[in-house]
Amino acid sequence: MDGWEEVVCVSRHVAQLTDAYEPIDWAIEVPRADRVRVKSYTCDCVPVFYELCQAAGLMFIRRLSRGGDVTVVHESPWMRCAEVEGLWERLLRGEAR
Ligand SMILES: [Zn+2]
Repeated sequence: MDGWEEVVCVSRHVAQLTDAYEPIDWAIEVPRADRVRVKSYTCDCVPVFYELCQAAGLMFIRRLSRGGDVTVVHESPWMRCAEVEGLWERLLRGEAR
């Protein structure tokens, strides 16, 4: 075990992107709710990872891009829960990004 560190993944990863994927309209994060609940997330062992968030009766997806010490946060459009849950599933399957 000397000097050997095992990477333990905490969650799922997004799948390889499919050819005809749906582009998500990412925008720079704008704080507009006091409380955001993270309902699900992908593993952060990769530079870009995602969080499924709920706030103020709506949901959205956060995209976190890590570069050095800085993590840039983008958000998908805020939409009704069912729509965003569907989008989250497509994101995980590589059908939206
Ligand atoms: Zn991982």
